[in-house]
Amino acid sequence: MIGEIIAIGNELTSGRVLDTNSRFAAGQLFGAGHEIIAMATIGDSPEEIGRALKRAIARSDFVVVTGGLGATSDDLTNEAVALALKRPSVLFPEVLEKIRRCPAGQSATEMRLLEKLAWLPDGAEVLSPERRMAGYLLIHDHTPVFFLPGVPHEMQELLAERVIPRLALWQGESVRRVRQRVYKIFGRPEIEINRLVGHLEKASPRVRIGYYPVFPEVHLSLTVIDGPPATPAPAPSATTSIDTTANLFDRLAAQIEAALGDCIFGRDEETLEGVVGCLLRTRAQTLALAESCTGGLIAGKLTALPGSSAYFSGGVVSYSNDLKEKFLGVGHQLLLAHGAVSGPVARAMAEGVRERAGVDLALSVTGIAGPGGGSAEKPVGTVYFGLATLERTLDFLYRFAGDRRQIREIAAATALDLLRRHLLGKLLQP
Ligand code: ATP
Repeated sequence: MIGEIIAIGNELTSGRVLDTNSRFAAGQLFGAGHEIIAMATIGDSPEEIGRALKRAIARSDFVVVTGGLGATSDDLTNEAVALALKRPSVLFPEVLEKIRRCPAGQSATEMRLLEKLAWLPDGAEVLSPERRMAGYLLIHDHTPVFFLPGVPHEMQELLAERVIPRLALWQGESVRRVRQRVYKIFGRPEIEINRLVGHLEKASPRVRIGYYPVFPEVHLSLTVIDGPPATPAPAPSATTSIDTTANLFDRLAAQIEAALGDCIFGRDEETLEGVVGCLLRTRAQTLALAESCTGGLIAGKLTALPGSSAYFSGGVVSYSNDLKEKFLGVGHQLLLAHGAVSGPVARAMAEGVRERAGVDLALSVTGIAGPGGGSAEKPVGTVYFGLATLERTLDFLYRFAGDRRQIREIAAATALDLLRRHLLGKLLQP
C-alpha cells in the first residue's frame, strides 16, 4: 500500500528534537511491504496539521500520524482532526474509566487534565485500550489514518503491534512483499561499488539497489519487490510470486557478495566492532590496543559491546613519546631514529602492549590527525598501524584525507577492519 507519515510537534520543527519516529516508521512499513511516498513534519498548528491530513488522505492508501495526542495545551492533533475532517471530539467512557482507575499518583487537577485523553474524534477506534496513550484509528474517505503517540517507544510498540498487522489485514493477500538486505562495506568508494554491481539493477524493474555513504563506511541496499499480484496470465499463486521474488533476491545477493568479496564486513544491523568482537570470541582470541592518534576511540567502540570483556583485555592511550616508552617499552633510540609516526614505532607499540597484557593479538595506531603536525614526508592523515601476534608483527601505512575528526574515525575503522581481515585469514601482507 502507498502510505504517508506525518510527525507533529514544535519541538521537531524548531530542530530541538530529531524526528526519529518518521524514520523508524518508514523503515518498518517498508519492510512490511508498503511504500512511503511522503513524510511531513508539522508544528503545533491545527490549521497546518489539518491541511497536511487532508492532502495525505487524498493521495495515499493509509496515513500514520505521530505526536500531539497528549494532555497538555500544545497537544492539538485532535483539535486539527475536528476542524479539518469534521470529526468533533466525543467522550470515550471506557478510556475515561481506564484513566480514572490508574491514577499513578496524580493530583485532582492533573487528573482533570489527563481526562482530555478520553476525548477522541467521533468514529475513532482505540488501538490499544489497555494503554493510557492508546493511539487510535480513524477511517476517513475509506483511508485508514493511524494516530500514534509522539513518545518514541510508545509509538514503536503501537506501530509493530497494531498498525502493521491492521494494514496487512486491510490489504489482505494482495499486499506486496518486499525483500531487502543492507550490505555494509568498508574500504571501497561508493562510485567503485556502483561500477561493480550497478548493472544488477537491470535484472528486473522490481529490483532496486541503493548506495549510502555512512562515513567511513558505504551501505548498499538490495531490494526486490513482489510483482503486482494476479496481473500476469495465468495468474500466479501467492506462493509462486514469493518464490520468484526469493529466487531473484538470492541470485542477486550472491552476485553482490561475489563482486564485493571481503570488502563486505556485515549485513543489516551488524557493525564493524560487533563483527570483530564475534570473530575474536569464536576464535577464542584475546586483544589489547595501543592507541595514539585515535585516543581510545577503538577501545570505546569495542567496550560499548556487551560481553566484550571475554576477548578485549584493555589498552593504553599512549599519546606522548614519554608514555610510549614508559608504558609500552618503545625504545628511546627507535623514537629518535624514526619518529613516533612510523612503521617501526607502530610495531614496537603493538609488541609492547601484547607482551604486557599477555594477550594473543595486539593492535597499535600512531598517526597525524591534524590540522597541525604534518610535514612533506609525513603529511596530515599519515597513519601507521601495527599488528602483533605470537608469531609475527606487521605494520601498515595509510594516508587518509579529511579533517581531524574524520581522520580519527577512519583510522579507528581501518584498525577494526585490519583485525577483521587478520581473524578471517585474509590480511594481505603490506
Ligand atoms: P505526551 O504529550 O503525553 O508526552 P504525545 O503523544 O502528545 O505525548 P508529544 O507531546 O508530541 O507526544 O511528544 C512527546 C515527546 O516525544 C516529545 O517531547 C519528544 O521528545 C518525543 N517526540 C515526539 N515526536 C517525536 C518524533 N517524531 N521523533 C522523535 N521524538 C519525538
